[in-house]
Amino acid sequence: RAKSEGPGRSSIFDTSMHDQVRERIELEVALRQALAEDQLRVHYQPLVRLETGVPVGAEALVRWEHPERGAIPPMTFIPIAEDAGLIGSIGTWVRQEALRQLGVWRSEGVVGEDFYLSINVSPRQLSEPELPLIVSGEMLRYGVPAHCVALEMTESVMVDGSSVTARVLFELRELGVKLLIDDFGTGFSALGYLRRFPVTGVKIDRSFVIGLGANVEDDEIVRAVVAMSHALGLSVIAEGVETPLQREALYAIGVVNGQGWLWGAAVPAAEFAERWHHAAVATPEMPAMAALYG
Ligand code: C2E
Ligand code: MG
Ligand code: MG
Ligand code: MG
Repeated sequence: RAKSEGPGRSSIFDTSMHDQVRERIELEVALRQALAEDQLRVHYQPLVRLETGVPVGAEALVRWEHPERGAIPPMTFIPIAEDAGLIGSIGTWVRQEALRQLGVWRSEGVVGEDFYLSINVSPRQLSEPELPLIVSGEMLRYGVPAHCVALEMTESVMVDGSSVTARVLFELRELGVKLLIDDFGTGFSALGYLRRFPVTGVKIDRSFVIGLGANVEDDEIVRAVVAMSHALGLSVIAEGVETPLQREALYAIGVVNGQGWLWGAAVPAAEFAERWHHAAVATPEMPAMAALYG
């Protein structure tokens, strides 16, 4: 990277590089403190049936409120956590908090029997051979059945993953946990991994959803992705749905579930329960697709 900046820019580069390194170290120190002092939170965003707007589940998204700097987005601190070896601790904290919350919601009747929480996992977490055992212990402790848990991972996990990762994924799937490919369509070169790994669904990245209903090519790309996913028996969730036009286009294509600001952003647990209480009843995740295609 330094070379491509060219000669004569090196001093500017050194300065900004120095600032970046300092910023990173500061954030890393602060992040360790955040973990120790309980500054992290989990927010929940509904995953809804496009047809009805009723949630079938929610995605758990980590939030960090820095005491001086305010909210720091996960896109900023998750990569730092990964580099600093903190992602295991953060991931464990998020997962336990989310499963605990789901256990509470289930026992209070806030959500139905099949309502599931979808939790993001980093590649490093999936190379931990003990993960399936740990997750199964947590599900037992919080009274959450495996079909109410989904783990979201990017496709790089399957493209770069070791044999340990493969075993972890098969063991998680054997438990009954759903395995979703996050940001689907943004990084792959070959789709063979969809057959080689026990993936249960894909989340179509927001970048493909943006132009839906307005850009014919985007419609065709999503149509092809959905047809292939359904042919492989995979569930489909569309990410980043913001407009009624996008929702209509997705519904016409045969997508069943979506997520986005059209229904609501991620909010704290109490707000989620207040907003969606009694709405989140049991609904099948994939009804007869034939009926939708007509
Ligand atoms: P992601 O897993 O793809 O999550 C979806 C992101 O899109 C979230 O951003 C969400 O707030 C945002 N979003 C949802 N609906 C809309 C919409 O309609 N329009 C737009 N423009 N955005 C929407 P967020 O919460 O900032 O998270 C960013 C990323 O950070 C996540 O992307 C995920 O990769 C990562 N992340 C978040 N929480 C965790 C975690 O607990 N563990 C790990 N490993 N990664 C996490
Ligand atoms: Mg995600
Ligand atoms: Mg995503
Ligand atoms: Mg995304």
